Amino acid sequence: MFKKILIANRGEIACRVMKTARRMGIQTVAVYSDADRDALHVQLADEAVHIGAAPSSESYLVMERIIQACRESGAEAVHPGYGFLSENADFCEALEREGIRFIGPAPHAIVSMGDKIASKKLAAEAGVNTIPGFAGVIRDAEQAVAVAAEVGYPVMLKASAGGGGKGMRVAWNDVECREGFERATNEALSSFGDGRILIEKYIQQPRHIEIQVMADGFGNTIYLNERECSIQRRNQKVVEEAPSPFLDRSTRRAMGEQAVALASAVQYRSAGTVEFIVDADHNFYFLEMNTRLQVEHPVTEMTTGLDLVELMLRVAAGEKLPLTQADVRLDGWALECRVYAEDPFRNFLPSTGRLVRYRPPAGDESEIRVDTGVYEGGEVSIYYDPMIAKLITHGADRDQAIDRMRQALDEYYIHGVRHNIGFLNAVVAHPRFREGRITTGFIAEEYPDGFFPEHVPQEDPAKPVLVAAAVHRCYMDRAARISGQLPGHERIVHNDWVVLIDGQMHHLQVHPGEAGYRLEYQGRDYCLDTDWRSGQPLFHATIDGETVCFQVEREGLWYHLAYHGAEIRALVMTARAAELYALMPEKMAPDLSRFLLSPMPGLLVKVAVEPGQKVVAGEELAVVEAMKMENVLRAEQDAVVARVAAGPGESLTVDQVILEFE
Ligand code: ADP
Ligand code: ADP
Ligand code: MG
Repeated sequence: MFKKILIANRGEIACRVMKTARRMGIQTVAVYSDADRDALHVQLADEAVHIGAAPSSESYLVMERIIQACRESGAEAVHPGYGFLSENADFCEALEREGIRFIGPAPHAIVSMGDKIASKKLAAEAGVNTIPGFAGVIRDAEQAVAVAAEVGYPVMLKASAGGGGKGMRVAWNDVECREGFERATNEALSSFGDGRILIEKYIQQPRHIEIQVMADGFGNTIYLNERECSIQRRNQKVVEEAPSPFLDRSTRRAMGEQAVALASAVQYRSAGTVEFIVDADHNFYFLEMNTRLQVEHPVTEMTTGLDLVELMLRVAAGEKLPLTQADVRLDGWALECRVYAEDPFRNFLPSTGRLVRYRPPAGDESEIRVDTGVYEGGEVSIYYDPMIAKLITHGADRDQAIDRMRQALDEYYIHGVRHNIGFLNAVVAHPRFREGRITTGFIAEEYPDGFFPEHVPQEDPAKPVLVAAAVHRCYMDRAARISGQLPGHERIVHNDWVVLIDGQMHHLQVHPGEAGYRLEYQGRDYCLDTDWRSGQPLFHATIDGETVCFQVEREGLWYHLAYHGAEIRALVMTARAAELYALMPEKMAPDLSRFLLSPMPGLLVKVAVEPGQKVVAGEELAVVEAMKMENVLRAEQDAVVARVAAGPGESLTVDQVILEFE
């Protein structure tokens, strides 16, 4: 086995690889950019080498720097993680020339699978089901339309060199096909420096189900069951699970065998993933093969009991696979949520900044796992993927894994950057998700206008009322203890309260109880036990024996509560104050409908209109590029442009005015 390895990555995956290496007694070397001097992966490594400036093109993507770091540190092998250089065959070859082992497949496998057009041809030859389409490069928009007519709408246009869901467009007609071709080509060029586009049939109501394979250098190739990754936003995975609620034994086996056939056809070594798209009738088609460790590999680990990084290390060191297909277990159910620094209310735009407070949930290792690359006080920078962590839960069955996930998400406390925890909680709580009726369209269909935490249905509307009242009562009791010091002048805390939520007044009585409070609400008695102290962000309690965890924040006189994906603003008052409150005038929000504002920080690529121009609802107004995606801003209603306030090439801040209407 290796004595020392270098991890050519950052963030959670670098930390994850180091964990296994340490357990196996292997020394670890981290590499870091200017932005990552204080990063967790640097702190966890035995040694760390600085490799350049913050942009990944000047550090994590520079092969020479990584190789130099290997020379300096004496690392015998490199684990590339995912992203960055993990699927770069030139990097692999450069390492080999230096006598350094690449912990992954051989370069020829990366080359043949790295290109969607080439890999599709190879898959078809290996007897793998492929999506009907055109197996060549599309020259221009006119050819795209002609090919689409042959394949039949709807079609999917995608970048042959693509990855991470970028450079991909669905088209339902000729107009969309032409526009989609232009956009996909531009995105492909800017993201991958390769504008080649392919066209295939768009599979409707698709599920994304992938097979994990593992192979050694001795011709042994096995599959470690499937993962379902149908919960996606813009073709990027958000929630994953193993096994898939959709597969029966025979389909699992058929998919597993095709995946193994494809891997064997390219003499695959190491861990790899064969992605399939599955239609409503259980037909499955090859999408692509990822020749690396996948983001969502922990759900496979939790259901098979294997450590995929350990297997990768063993195979790379020349060992044989220690197990055969018959040894592969499938134990219970595992779920993974990707926790991102992004703002669900601003169309999921990345959010950056300091993690002022960061408290991941804790629990039994066999039930809950948090893979992360951040820590409290650390920073989420603009330079890299905004993933904060992966939260994985395991249960005896799917329902238990989901329940544990909901509890863990409730307890996940992040302050300082916007995050998607509430959104994740709403998704896993959704009845359609519970029933397993998911497709890759789930998020777009269920949240067509975005995510609004105040619209998340309350399974039990009494809970936030009770919690708000108890929280307020805690504050009042404390205030009474502190300021009511003079004998004979003790403050009296009344028992009659009104909780105002969403314009609704809820009357209730709150009495001190033995370990918390006794509440009377709507003719019912509730026993709420808690040892919460004012100021703590997590309100742990039991309500009539049932455990709940609410996140609580005080905003002036209001309480901001978050629970199971819902966010609730509550004002708690005495009965008399509530009477007066009802007479207060309401403040009007300013009218912003006359402006087109930039929904995100980004680059203004194009302004499609001029002053005086009439536009109709749906018409293209401007194009803003952010995170390598082109976003078309369209007119929400018919209007006349009065003024153009920003020009192409300009860097925009959030809410910057681009156009003004008459
Ligand atoms: P997974 O299937 O494991 O989710 P993705 O395809 O979403 O994999 O990509 C995993 C990571 O690698 C993401 O952070 C993504 O941004 C990055 N990535 C994938 N392909 C590329 C590529 N060709 N160039 C740069 N980054 C990529
Ligand atoms: P990437 O390299 O970006 O991961 P993939 O080819 O794996 O690209 O596709 C990413 C996602 O896009 C898939 O998980 C699936 O949701 C969707 N997708 C890709 N091709 C099709 C298709 N032909 N029909 C329907 N959905 C598709
Ligand atoms: Mg993919």
